[in-house]
Amino acid sequence: MNDTVKMSGRMMVPVLLALLVLAGLLLLGNRDKAFDKAGRQIIDQSGEVMYLTVIGRDSAVLRTPSADFTPKQLKSARLKTLMDKMLSTVTSPQQDGVGIAAPQVGIDKRVIWVQRFDKPGEPFECYLNPHLDSLWGEITHGPEGCLSVPPMRGLVPRYSAVKVSYIHPETLEPRTETVEGYTAIIFQHECDHLEGILYIDKADTVFVSESWVQERQNFNYDRPSWWPLQNN
Ligand code: ZN
Repeated sequence: MNDTVKMSGRMMVPVLLALLVLAGLLLLGNRDKAFDKAGRQIIDQSGEVMYLTVIGRDSAVLRTPSADFTPKQLKSARLKTLMDKMLSTVTSPQQDGVGIAAPQVGIDKRVIWVQRFDKPGEPFECYLNPHLDSLWGEITHGPEGCLSVPPMRGLVPRYSAVKVSYIHPETLEPRTETVEGYTAIIFQHECDHLEGILYIDKADTVFVSESWVQERQNFNYDRPSWWPLQNN
């Protein structure tokens, strides 16, 4: 009797250990690894219109090259939330932009939205893991601004055509597309963000935009109190 009790007690230890390991693996499996802790907090706590990072105060996140999502990370539910909130932000009346990249909302991952002026209805479209495979054509020096560089504008040399490869946000299939004209310039601006490059790095001249100052004089650039990234 005593021996039987001792034996079953001894056998309980490995069983409990195995259960602990299994529970640990399940917990790890459920964790969203598409974003780090700060990224998860930013996505979860932001309202529909997200705080926009600004050069100077938020230079670290704007200057860090962004990482691709792995195939597993592309299935993250949080990534869908991030995409939705980025769209609400760039199309908000305060911002009224034509494109946005994830570092502008504090996330160093390869997600952009681009307004497709080359398509009927000029829709905003989302691109995951975008990369410019090639750039060609005439170089023009056109005016650009950036939501993260208020209240400036500058003349920036850009190619007239690009070939972009990306993951489609709904099918999650890889695609390649050739884009020309003004939309190709937006792709260059947004993909530069993912390399930590801002248009002011490439601009011939940079100047204060009086219209920007007029249009956004009541805009609130304050950071949320819970913002997890440090000043820099
Ligand atoms: Zn920008």
